[in-house]
Amino acid sequence: MDGARSEAGAGATIVGVIGSPVAHSLSPLLHNAAFAALGLADEWRSFAFEVPPGQAAAALEAMRLSRVTGLSVTMPHKADVAALVDECSDVARRLGAVNCIVNRDGALFGTNTDGEGFVSSLARGAGFAPEGRRCVVVGAGGAARAVVLALAVGGAAQVAVVNRTPERAYEAAELAGPVGSVVPLTEGSIAEAVAAADLVVNATPVGMAGVAGQTGGPGVWLVPPDLLEPGQVAADLVYAPRVTPWLAEAVACGATAVDGLGMLVHQAAAQLVLWTGVEPPVEAMWRAAEAASPREG
Ligand code: NAP
Repeated sequence: MDGARSEAGAGATIVGVIGSPVAHSLSPLLHNAAFAALGLADEWRSFAFEVPPGQAAAALEAMRLSRVTGLSVTMPHKADVAALVDECSDVARRLGAVNCIVNRDGALFGTNTDGEGFVSSLARGAGFAPEGRRCVVVGAGGAARAVVLALAVGGAAQVAVVNRTPERAYEAAELAGPVGSVVPLTEGSIAEAVAAADLVVNATPVGMAGVAGQTGGPGVWLVPPDLLEPGQVAADLVYAPRVTPWLAEAVACGATAVDGLGMLVHQAAAQLVLWTGVEPPVEAMWRAAEAASPREG
């Protein structure tokens, strides 16, 4: 983090992202695009910091000492950081995961903007608001948990979780309180849950570029995309590629698609507000994200 300070100039305010591997992260690009659009490019700079697994405590200590103002937190540090910060938001505490740290004069505040970023991406991509709607979330990992909680907080009528490992499905569904449920892993139960849904979310890495054997297809997808139909929203948290095979097939069946880039942009925008206190230039961030991750085909 000292290297970033000298590269940015002694007076600059430093933010960034910690993760491993982190070189591929679009976060610094999004942050720096926002700073440029705000006319703050000389005063604020964002960097990617490679922090090996298990080293989050050292990174946070460096953050305190080097007066880094804010950090985005990505894999594999989100749970570790939740246990290391001085104070957690209610959302981060419930999720047990922090994706954003704010340095308040050496006291580190952790929160999680993934869920609100997802809900904003639904509004922008499909004009969809969760209130009163029935939702199915596929997956029960960190991203799925953030989505389940945000949908419930947003007033969803039902948040049903489908996951390969049922125990984790129950833990995730619990986050939604009385509107949470678990879908049994049978063809009939899954088809019934999807038929009743307004929104179906893929929150697994299936379909992600570079994930061996996980491009998807019959027998791999827990929720076959051909169960979707017009009037339903299909959201995929994967953003590389922008259009996964699951999303492409759901669209071919008439569903409205929301890809994962929107969640990435909006969770970053929510972090910028916390760091700078100013309204983030979301459109400029979108343009930077679209340029770095164009929709193919
Ligand atoms: P994670 O914590 O590792 O959880 C992965 C989940 O996917 C688990 O529930 C796992 O099931 C399930 N899963 C993995 N492989 C599967 C397979 N072959 N078939 C069925 N289920 C499978 O990961 P995460 O952090 O939640 O991330 C999930 C995805 O969301 C990743 O692709 C990530 O890039 C994306 N993401 C996107 C954004 C964004 O801003 N767009 C933000 C965060 C994450 P088990 O419980 O059975 O292991």
